[in-house]
Amino acid sequence: EKKTGKRVAVIGSGPAGMSAAQQLGRAGHDVHVYERESRPGGLMRYGIPDFKIEKHYIDRRIEQMQGEGVTFHCGVNVGVDKPVAELLAEHDAVLYCGGSETPRAAGIPGDDLGGVHDAMPYLVQQNRRVGAE
Ligand SMILES: Cc1cc2nc3c(=O)[nH]c(=O)nc-3n(C[C@H](O)[C@H](O)[C@H](O)COP(=O)(O)OP(=O)(O)OC[C@H]3O[C@@H](n4cnc5c(N)ncnc54)[C@H](O)[C@@H]3O)c2cc1C
Repeated sequence: EKKTGKRVAVIGSGPAGMSAAQQLGRAGHDVHVYERESRPGGLMRYGIPDFKIEKHYIDRRIEQMQGEGVTFHCGVNVGVDKPVAELLAEHDAVLYCGGSETPRAAGIPGDDLGGVHDAMPYLVQQNRRVGAE
């Protein structure tokens, strides 16, 4: 109902970034989400397979948020494509929701054996294929 005139940047569009962006937008701020991947969603899109969450649910939420005034800037890797100093200068506040893609050992007997692999690289590849990216 009332705009605050404040511009807020959210880095990362996983569940943390998306939920923060929606709440900040509803509080009346001008919210800009910066995402390094070509599409928003974070691990919901690139980590979790379609049989656990079909991606049209994420797309529906993004459309709803865009309708509410949130702007998504995809393909922008903050710190690489866009300097942090620039982001700080252009916004009243910056929220970092970058997640983590660094695997860690399960810490169980046998996790160091040959043939035991981290899942993330395979999940991202497969989700890109299924999403025709
Ligand atoms: C196979 C699998 C199944 C899962 N199942 C479930 C489940 O059933 N229930 C559940 O609750 N959780 C589940 N999770 C965990 C859940 O997906 C994560 O906890 C959640 O996605 C973390 O959210 P996040 O927003 O913190 O980070 P992420 O989802 O990792 O999002 C971070 C985003 O920030 C972006 N980013 C990072 N750095 C930059 C930068 N410098 N510039 C621009 N963008 C940047 C990344 O590209 C990414 O899109 C599952 C995860 C996996 C892999």
